[in-house]
Amino acid sequence: MPGILYIISAPSGSGKSTLVNELRTNVDKLEFSVSYTTRLPRGSEQNGREYYFVTRPEFEKMIAADQFLEHAEVFGNYYGTACRFFDEAKVTGRDLLLDIDVQGAEQVRKKVPDAVSIFVMPPNRDTLERRLRNRSQAENVKPEVIQRRLENARNEIVNYPDYGYILVNEILEHAVYELQAIVLSERIRRSGETVAGEQRELLRVADRCLLANSHRKVQPVLDSFEINTVTPTNL
Ligand code: ADP
Ligand code: 5GP
Repeated sequence: MPGILYIISAPSGSGKSTLVNELRTNVDKLEFSVSYTTRLPRGSEQNGREYYFVTRPEFEKMIAADQFLEHAEVFGNYYGTACRFFDEAKVTGRDLLLDIDVQGAEQVRKKVPDAVSIFVMPPNRDTLERRLRNRSQAENVKPEVIQRRLENARNEIVNYPDYGYILVNEILEHAVYELQAIVLSERIRRSGETVAGEQRELLRVADRCLLANSHRKVQPVLDSFEINTVTPTNL
């Protein structure tokens, strides 16, 4: 059976890295694609672990050589997923997780229509601001960067209807469990095997996160960002 491609996107500060780290600890046989970026390393980040840190000319050379499955400019820096991660996962049949922004997700969905896409939201704007501020004390980020991230969050959140699953990261333990349930339920569904015992509970939790079932939990988030959307008729 070919591996499953998972895409996870979120506005900065929503808790995506925290959730992904938990997922990587708790779920086996899930490869993580290490992206290329032109931004500088932060804190304890290491080349080849969080990212491959390259110069702009190096990145542009890779674009010209068609080495990216997707790439985008985020906060003034290039980010991209090398095709080689996707190709290797195809050969080994392993599941692969991409942590990419909304622009990258759109490109990947076109190339891999059966990818599983997950959008993580903060519970509301105030909570996002608080998380960004708390984290910035550790990161030494300037206040204007936080303002920029908050504005950008709004622009990213409007893309939520393009994703298959929606996670609102309010209570961390719940969101971790939901993310695991989404990943495992897709494995169960695609295996075609009969659903047994505790797998039913995983499927139930994952179903609640499907876009079509998320309207009630998403609406307060949209309201807090003053996003007026016409609810799609399938929600
Ligand atoms: P992202 O990767 O989306 O930018 P992080 O994982 O770095 O976000 O999380 C941003 C901040 O919020 C971190 O300080 C993290 O510890 C904290 N955080 C993440 N999820 C929660 C949560 N559910 N409740 C409270 N704090 C959280
Ligand atoms: P950060 O610099 O905070 O690690 O990431 C900033 C944003 O870039 C996040 O939204 C993250 O998901 C996104 N990102 C990281 N890697 C990639 C990538 O390979 N491609 C795209 N399109 N976005 C990425």
